Amino acid sequence: MEKVKIIEVGPRDGLQNIDSFVPTDKKIQIIKRLAACGIKEMQIGSFVAPQAIPQFKDIVEVVKAVNALRDVVLSVLVPNIRGAENAASSGIRKFIFFFSVSHAHNCCNVRQTPEESIEELKQICRAYLCDSGITLQVALATAFGCPFEGNIKTDAVLRAVDKVAACGVKEITLCDTVGFGNPKMVEEKFSASQKHFPEISFGAHFHNTRGLALANTLRAYDIGIRSFDAAAGGLGGCPYAPKSSGNASTEETAFLFEEMGIKTGINLKKLLGVCQFLQETLPQVKIASSLFQAGLPQKHKFVADNKRGK
Ligand code: ZN
Repeated sequence: MEKVKIIEVGPRDGLQNIDSFVPTDKKIQIIKRLAACGIKEMQIGSFVAPQAIPQFKDIVEVVKAVNALRDVVLSVLVPNIRGAENAASSGIRKFIFFFSVSHAHNCCNVRQTPEESIEELKQICRAYLCDSGITLQVALATAFGCPFEGNIKTDAVLRAVDKVAACGVKEITLCDTVGFGNPKMVEEKFSASQKHFPEISFGAHFHNTRGLALANTLRAYDIGIRSFDAAAGGLGGCPYAPKSSGNASTEETAFLFEEMGIKTGINLKKLLGVCQFLQETLPQVKIASSLFQAGLPQKHKFVADNKRGK
C-alpha cells in the first residue's frame, strides 16, 4: 500500500514564531497529544542559544518530559556543534542541521555564510555521524526563493546538496521558507536533486505563505517525494512575511493523502482535536486551516460544529 511520512514540525517551526513564551507544561502537552494522533516523527524544538530564540530556553526540560514517548522519532534543530553536543547529552537521537542556500538569508538568520555553516556541519558529522545511535538530517532553507535574493537557481540548490552529501548526510529536506515555490519549481528542483543524488532521501518542507503548499505537496509526491514536513494548525510563519500563513498544515496534508488512499498513519479526528486544543492554548495564533474550520466530511462521522451539522 502507498504511504507517506508526515513530519510534525509545529512544536519547533510553529512555536519559534510566537513571541510570547509558551509555558513548558503546555509544550509538553502539545507534543504528547500530537504523538497520540499517530504521528511518526516530530521536531520538538531547537537547541539554540536562549538569547537567540527565548522560546526554546526550556528545551532540556521538554526533552526530558517526552523522550520516553514510543512509536515516534523525536528530533531537534541544532544550529552548531554546541547545540549538537547539548542535544546529544539530553538523549535526543535525531538532529536537524539547517542553513540557507541563499547567502543573504543565512547571514541574517544564523549570522554565518553558507560556507561557514558547512564547516559547522562537518564538525557535527565528525562528532556524530559515525555514532550509530544518531541520525542527522539537513534542511536547506530558502531552496525555492529568498526574501533578500529573490529567485534561487536550481544549480545553487544542487551545489548545496553536493556539499551536504559529501559530508555523509543521507537525508536532506528542501525548504520553501518564505513561500516562493510553485509546482513547476518543485518539479524542477526535486527532479534535478533526485537525478544527481539518487543515494539521498529527499524531504519537502512547504509553507503556505501564498496558498500553494498543498499544490506543491502533490507535485512533490507525484515525482516521488515521500517525506513531508507540516505543522498542526498550520502554525508558523516567517518574520519576512508578517501577515502570511504558516507551514503546510498537518491536518490538510494528511487529509489530502488519506482522501487519495495514501496512508499517513495519522488519526485525523484526533488531530483536529489537537488543533482545537492549540486554538484554546495559544490564543495569540489563528488556526487558519480550511479543514479545521470546516471539519471532516460526514463520511468520517465527525462534524466540527455540531449545530451546523444538524
Ligand atoms: Zn518552516
